[in-house]
Amino acid sequence: MRATSLPFAHRVYRTRMTTRFRGLDYRDGVLIEGPAGWSEVSPFWDYDIPESSAWLAAGLESAYVGYPEPVRASIPVNVTVPATTPEKAQAIIARRGGCETAKIKVAEKGQSLDDDLDRIAAVRDVFDGKIRIDANAGWDRNAAIHSIPLLDRAAGGLEYVEQPVSTVEDLAAVRKAVAVPIAADESIRRAEDPYRVAKHDAADLIVCKVQPLGGVRACLRLAQDIGLPVVVSSALESSVGIRAGVALAASLPELNYACGLATVQLFEHDVTSDRLVPTAGELPVRDIDPDTIEPVDEELEARWATRLRDMWDHLAATRNVSDITGGAL
Ligand SMILES: [Mg+2]
Repeated sequence: MRATSLPFAHRVYRTRMTTRFRGLDYRDGVLIEGPAGWSEVSPFWDYDIPESSAWLAAGLESAYVGYPEPVRASIPVNVTVPATTPEKAQAIIARRGGCETAKIKVAEKGQSLDDDLDRIAAVRDVFDGKIRIDANAGWDRNAAIHSIPLLDRAAGGLEYVEQPVSTVEDLAAVRKAVAVPIAADESIRRAEDPYRVAKHDAADLIVCKVQPLGGVRACLRLAQDIGLPVVVSSALESSVGIRAGVALAASLPELNYACGLATVQLFEHDVTSDRLVPTAGELPVRDIDPDTIEPVDEELEARWATRLRDMWDHLAATRNVSDITGGAL
């Protein structure tokens, strides 16, 4: 039966992006408030309802149950450099908030290997920290095996390459062929079976994102079961959503890599005046009070209300919501 009203209140936010990212000029989502605090539910619009309902599960758990006990008080983070010009890349590095690791996007549609080499060389010219790259599955197997050693040389050594190719089989083949460590992101987050990465020895580490993987506790279980080092990354959220990533990173038994959680700078307008931006390359572990949510137009309000109800109906039909919310719903 379709839910006529939701058992929780929500607020919609929307912001322009400072830099086009993931093909987006704007980002929007909802914030929900529960007894444990505020949380974010913001599946991208190209995600269908079943996939989006994992994001709702994550938000409900955060708002109703809260976060596990942290084992560290701050989280080292990387600065993210989109697939932009060498000049813009250097400008982003100049504003890195003390980050000692840079993640550079490569293999962007419409760009060449030379564009990637130029961007990496430009970053290396002005930055002596660690450099990692993220191809977002933009190469095929041969292109990855050809490109990675060249980019490794341009960087003076890469920390790792994230999702060079799309399939687990290709990841495993690339990992055998190149010396640079391989991180799995899309193969964990959008896969029917995230454990295939481990079964096929396809990665040296995994990227975990709280919302797509259904919550902080689901991520902790996955990390423990897979047994590989974890990098926690954002799904391009406001400071409220980043707070959940910080909670995951703070409660992992081991954290050996800087996390991809310094992304609220990509928002022109955040939902709080107390943003989660890095100082000395780290984010603090602290709660966020959304005090600057701006009203959005009625159409967007209505679209989110419909989508949330659909996500809720799907979640209620497929999962035990009481388990997710500690018996509250
Ligand atoms: Mg990635």
